[in-house]
Amino acid sequence: MKTAVYSARRYDQTLLARANDAAGSAHELVFLQDRLDPGTAQLASGCQAVAAFVNDDLGAAVLERLSALGVRFVTTRSTGFNHIDTQAARRLGITVARVADYSPWSVAEFAVGLLLAVNRKIARASMRTREGNFELEGLMGFDLHGKTVGVIGTGKIGALFARIMAGFGCTVLGSDVHPNPEFEALGGRYVSRDELFAASDVISLHCPLTEATRYLVNAQTLAGTKPGCILVNTSRGGLVDTEAAIAALKSGQLRGLAIDVYEQEASLFFQDLSSTIITDDVIQRLVSFPNVIVTGHQAFFTEEAIGQIMQTTIANLNDFAAGRPLGERLVA
Ligand code: NAD
Repeated sequence: MKTAVYSARRYDQTLLARANDAAGSAHELVFLQDRLDPGTAQLASGCQAVAAFVNDDLGAAVLERLSALGVRFVTTRSTGFNHIDTQAARRLGITVARVADYSPWSVAEFAVGLLLAVNRKIARASMRTREGNFELEGLMGFDLHGKTVGVIGTGKIGALFARIMAGFGCTVLGSDVHPNPEFEALGGRYVSRDELFAASDVISLHCPLTEATRYLVNAQTLAGTKPGCILVNTSRGGLVDTEAAIAALKSGQLRGLAIDVYEQEASLFFQDLSSTIITDDVIQRLVSFPNVIVTGHQAFFTEEAIGQIMQTTIANLNDFAAGRPLGERLVA
């Protein structure tokens, strides 16, 4: 199938082309650096399929344009599909698939890395030593051993994160609408979300972004956290009301914040804006805090994860083209 690959960075082009070659070059891939939005949808003209990424806009307006161009299949190079209007896709007869499964270790390990970096101020320390400053003042953290870590969303990534934290000697609490026996087997204990907020020294978010989870971290829930808690978000930016998090950082209610995702990331992430004036005052405020770490949605970015994402994307195209069932990769 002729497939428009949006938000295609150099690594996407190399690795997706390699996966396509390995599968017999079944598809004609049209690589587009552009993010998919109402203005760039036209670039899929002549394509039957679109391969998108997390910050591509697959709302109703874009899907309608794609449908009018003859696009019948959309596959996202991600597990999350909150950027896709699945109802509109169904109405338009566009089949939507995702990568149901890829190295959950990539994200779980990165979340642990963010936690260590923000607690032990590793990035700050590194910046200091580059300038010949070996002072320790301001770099004190706390032992994770013996602390309580709350995991919201104990699926594939959350359960692995919990397993690593249990290995650090932490007490692990969980909140999930579908309890995972694996989480309980490693010693995790399910509590209500309010209880988790109140008892945790560290909270890490691993649930999907849905209408039920949007802004689950907000002014009210932050007021119910243990004072001095650290919040880690590697899931989706929309889980956190960023303005409320900034207020909690200012008051000290949050001791630290480490985020790989940001609610307004679509216009910022995956591009070099270092020579431009960034007009998003919220992200600029966030990165100015000494106790905040922001990374640009890179938790998935390991050789293993990317390899699996590209292979599954080609498998999705193959299966749709051959009329084979997509199983748990089918979104709409
Ligand atoms: P998963 O489906 O295995 O687990 C998600 C868990 O969240 C499930 O156990 C589910 O029951 C739970 N959940 C759903 N609604 C909930 C709610 N209202 N409250 C509490 N829990 C709820 O998914 P996963 O593979 O572990 O991925 C988790 C999330 O990580 C994805 O949704 C995605 O947003 C994010 N992610 C981020 C990156 C990155 O690079 N930063 C990469 C991959 C995934």
